[in-house]
Parts: sequence; C-alpha cells; structure tokens
Amino acid sequence: MTEQPAARVTRPAILTVDDDPNVSRSVARDLRRRYGEGYRVVRAESGPEALDALREIKLRGDEVAVLLADYRMPRMSGIEFLEEAMDLFPTARRVLLTAYADTDAAIQAINVVDVDHYLLKPWDPPEEKLYPVVDALLDTWVRSDRRPVPETKVVGDRWSARSYKMRDFLARNQVPYRWYMADEPEGARLLAAAGADASTCPVVITEDGQPLIQPTNAELAERVGLSTTPSGDFYDLVVVGGGPAGLGAAVYGASEGLRTVLVERRATGGQAGTSSRIENYLGFPDGVSGAQLTDRARRQAVKFGAELLTARDVVGLDLRGSARVVRFDDGAELAAHTVILATGVTYRMLDVPGLRELAGRGVYYGAATTEAPNCAGHDVYVVGGANSAGQAAVYFAQHARRVVMVVRGDTLERSMSHYLVQQIGEVDNIEVRTCTEVVAAEGEDHLEKITLRDSATGDTETAEAHWVFLFIGAAPGTEWLAGLVERDPRGFLLAGPDLVVGGERPRGWTLDRDPYHLETSVPGVFVAGDVRAESVKRVASAVGEGAMAVTLVHRYLEKL
Ligand SMILES: Cc1cc2nc3c(=O)[nH]c(=O)nc-3n(C[C@H](O)[C@H](O)[C@H](O)COP(=O)(O)OP(=O)(O)OC[C@H]3O[C@@H](n4cnc5c(N)ncnc54)[C@H](O)[C@@H]3O)c2cc1C
Repeated sequence: MTEQPAARVTRPAILTVDDDPNVSRSVARDLRRRYGEGYRVVRAESGPEALDALREIKLRGDEVAVLLADYRMPRMSGIEFLEEAMDLFPTARRVLLTAYADTDAAIQAINVVDVDHYLLKPWDPPEEKLYPVVDALLDTWVRSDRRPVPETKVVGDRWSARSYKMRDFLARNQVPYRWYMADEPEGARLLAAAGADASTCPVVITEDGQPLIQPTNAELAERVGLSTTPSGDFYDLVVVGGGPAGLGAAVYGASEGLRTVLVERRATGGQAGTSSRIENYLGFPDGVSGAQLTDRARRQAVKFGAELLTARDVVGLDLRGSARVVRFDDGAELAAHTVILATGVTYRMLDVPGLRELAGRGVYYGAATTEAPNCAGHDVYVVGGANSAGQAAVYFAQHARRVVMVVRGDTLERSMSHYLVQQIGEVDNIEVRTCTEVVAAEGEDHLEKITLRDSATGDTETAEAHWVFLFIGAAPGTEWLAGLVERDPRGFLLAGPDLVVGGERPRGWTLDRDPYHLETSVPGVFVAGDVRAESVKRVASAVGEGAMAVTLVHRYLEKL
C-alpha cells in the first residue's frame, strides 16, 4: 500500500483497491490529479491490505469519503471488502469497479452492500467517466452523512412472475436497480408512499422518485432512459432483433454509412446476452459473459450511429412499392429500403402438468441469471443436454448447494461440446442424470416439488425443488411472416440458394436474378442468425451473417 505524503491535517481519505498494480496505480493517479488537494488518496492491492489501511485511518480518527473497490480480486472480492469496510465507515460512499458491463455483479452488489455506483473499467477519459461519479459522491458525502443516492427501485413479491420479468428486463438492459420485497418493512414503506399495495406489485420507482405501478416494458424502458421511438420515419435499413446477428448488422450497417435502426422487443443481447460464459467466441481465450460481449456490441453500434429501439415488438411486414415497412404491436410503422430479420429463436415450453403455471415462480426458461444469488444453499435443477444447459449448470453450481442436470439422452457427449462436458465432470456439486425426464411439477405460490422419471426403468421420484431452469430446444417465432416470407416446415426462414428449387425461383419473385445468399423470398428483406433455416446456432456465425447481410444490402441498394 502507498499513500500520498500525508500532511497531518485531517484530510478525508479516498481509498481505492485493485489487485492489478497497474490499474491500482492509474486509478490513484487519476484521483490525485483531481482531488489531491482536498483529499488523501490511499491505494491498496488487496482487500485485506485495504482493510488494514481503513483500520489505521479509523484509529487515527480520520474520515473516509469514498471507497472504490475492484469487483474481481482473488483473496477477497470487492463486494466482500465493501461489506467489511461498511462496518468501519458506514457513511463512506461506495463504488464497485467492474472489468466490463458485469451487470449481475453490480446488481448483486447494489443489493448486498449498498453500493452507490458501479464503474466500468477502463474509465478513460476520467473527465467523462470517473470524475463526474466521484464528484457527485463527494458532494453527497459532504452535504450529508447518509443522504440516499438516486436509484431505480423495484418493489415486488419474491415469487411473482411479473416481478421476475421486470427485474430481468432491467438487468438485461443494464439498468441498475435496487430490489425490495413487498413484505419487508422498507418495501412496504415504499409501496405506501407510492399509493400501492402488495396486490398492485411490481412497482418501480424511478431515480427521480416517480412511481410506476405494474408498468409495461415499453413504459418502463421510456422512463429509465431507453430509446423506444425512432427519430425518423424512413431508413436505409431496419434490423429486427437485437441478438448477435442484429447487433452485427447494426454495427456494420451504421459503420458503412447506412441509416440504420435496430428494433428489439426485449433487451439487446438476445440469447447470447443470457449466457453466463461464452468460451468459443474468437478472441476471448478466457471466455466472456454474454452480457459483457453484447453490451460492448450495443455500445459499438450506438457509437457508429445506429439507433436502437428497445421494448418494441415487430408484428408485421408490408411491402409498399420499393419500401419495406415493419409494423409494431401498437400499430406504429417504420419504413426502410431494406430489412434484416434477425429474430433468433426462443425456448420451447415444456408441456408437463404444473410447469406452465409456475413459470417465473421457480420455473424459468433460459438462464435467468438474476435469480442465481437467490439459489444459494438450495438444489437447482437444470433440464436439457445442450451447451446452454451445460453453461447454466456450471454457473449455478457456484451459487447452489447442488445442481442436478436432467438429461433425456443417455449421454451428454452427443449434444454438448467436449470442453463443457469436461468442465461439468470437474465440478463436485453437479450431478448428471441421463435418461431422465421431468414429468410433473407442483407448488402453491411457487415451485415446491418436481417429479422425475427414469426412462430406462420407468421409475419415478418426487423431490423437493424450488428452482428449475429449462433449456429444451428452441423455435423461431416467425408466424407473423407467414404467407409473405418463405419458411421451412418448422418456421425457419429460407434464403438464397435454398429458395431456388429445380431452377425455379420462389413464388412471387419478380426480379431478373436469383435471391442473394441471405435474401429471403422478398427482395430487399434479408435474414441473419439462428432464425435462418439450416443456420449454425452459434454467436460467431450469427455475427458473421449480420455482417454479410449488410454487404448484400449494399448490393441490393446499388441496383434499386
Ligand atoms: C444460455 C445460452 C448459452 C449459449 N452459449 C453459446 C456459446 O457459448 N457459444 C455460442 O457460439 N453460442 C452460444 N449460444 C447460442 C447463441 O447465443 C445463439 O446462436 C445466438 O445468440 C443467435 O443470435 P441471433 O441474433 O441469431 O438470435 P438471438 O440471440 O435469439 O436474438 C434474437 C433477438 O431478436 C428479438 N426478437 C425476436 N422477435 C422479435 C420481434 N418480432 N420484434 C423485435 N425483436 C424480436 C429477441 O428478443 C432477441 O433479442 C448460447 C445460447 C444460449 C441461450
């Protein structure tokens, strides 16, 4: 630990702790440059070292104004450090430094240790990213001992599907919030102040103190600063879907000068955004969380000038002359020269008695990583044998007492990548049950029991269970394109060579050329990613197809 030469005047301290010496030094340097006169900047390279420094400061009777802690530190995480630091300096403002947009960590921290802010590393230039945050915290600290920092609050019922959806929506859109249960004293106080009660949950209270009672995603998006309305009414390119394929298309479209708007019904990132760790994406030898990867892509698209609309559901496509018009669920429309359909796939529901009713109340489709901290000490059931299920099992095993993988086939090897099968084998608290199916679920308020059947013997077994995560294959939601865009029998969109059968171009095709490689049966409407028939279901291929579709859009526009 090093300190600035301390004149023995009682300047309050700003303490920063990061296990990477270079990062630690550079945070301290940036802090000293701006606050050195009024504050003593103390730096440490581990949680225990920083706690020693705090104890020293305490004994000297000095004050600490702000604590900045790195989230990922080997011996003691930033959260653990902040928790202990709070016992010593409860009024110090707290900042968590995260390597990327590690929203889960940040949200967990906000709930666990009352973090005031999380900062993404790197914070260059500090004038834009670091100083405004620290200025605001110092201001708060100077003015009042425990003045609450503005934040979005969600009040809801622990086992309510609507509350879960709201929290998931905020988390996946990288909006930090604090979660209060309706039956806790502070939750009840907030509900009373909002003029609501447990029956009207969830209630969201925005940073500026406005209560929203059971808001829709679109209302919520608007109030927390996500864009929902296009700035223009005609574009070169509308991208439908904000997963890797759509984000890839938006980055390439906007960076190559196309007036591009991307429309996403829920949260950008798509399936990849829910992945706890993607290990096979080029350029990330240590893996990367889907949220980090797709948040970077989102920022890249915005940087290049793409417009991103969130919480807007596209329900129709019309052709008006050369214009391609997409229709939203509220009847509004958006027109462009071209459209890229990148709507991916969604998990199929498992048709088992009891499961459907308990969705969002202990039964979750997909990774639902917001729930991970709540699984601590419980058994978690992960249903499915593909990579997504494997990743989820490894992830939840860090939180749960035990993870049981329920796999229909007789081995994981056939359906899962080798590296994941190996990882699973190395985790002690994962149990793999092959030849097994979920056949029933029960629960009043929330999931309480599931019944499993061994398909080899026919034996059934009912176990106490509060958490089931299902990854059981996916389907494209393309019904809204039926009759206009050619689809295969399972609803995946056909494109390019797949449309030309026996030398015949698709029905209604009017141009004097074959459809381009990723062009659908409607000229100027392209497809990319998982929703394309016979596509490879991978992040890299989705991104690649998004980029390639943009090249074909250019080719189409040249001849328009
Ligand atoms: C948990 C999990 C882990 C995975 N891990 C890996 C991995 O490690 N490596 C790997 O290569 N692949 C992995 N995959 C697969 C990979 O994430 C997908 O192949 C990839 O996300 C497909 O991208 P996409 O853009 O085509 O579709 P999606 O990711 O499905 O995105 C489609 C988007 O379109 C939106 N949308 C759909 N319909 C509409 C509409 N009508 N209006 C507006 N928006 C709409 C959806 O909300 C969604 O956000 C994983 C998938 C999951 C679920």
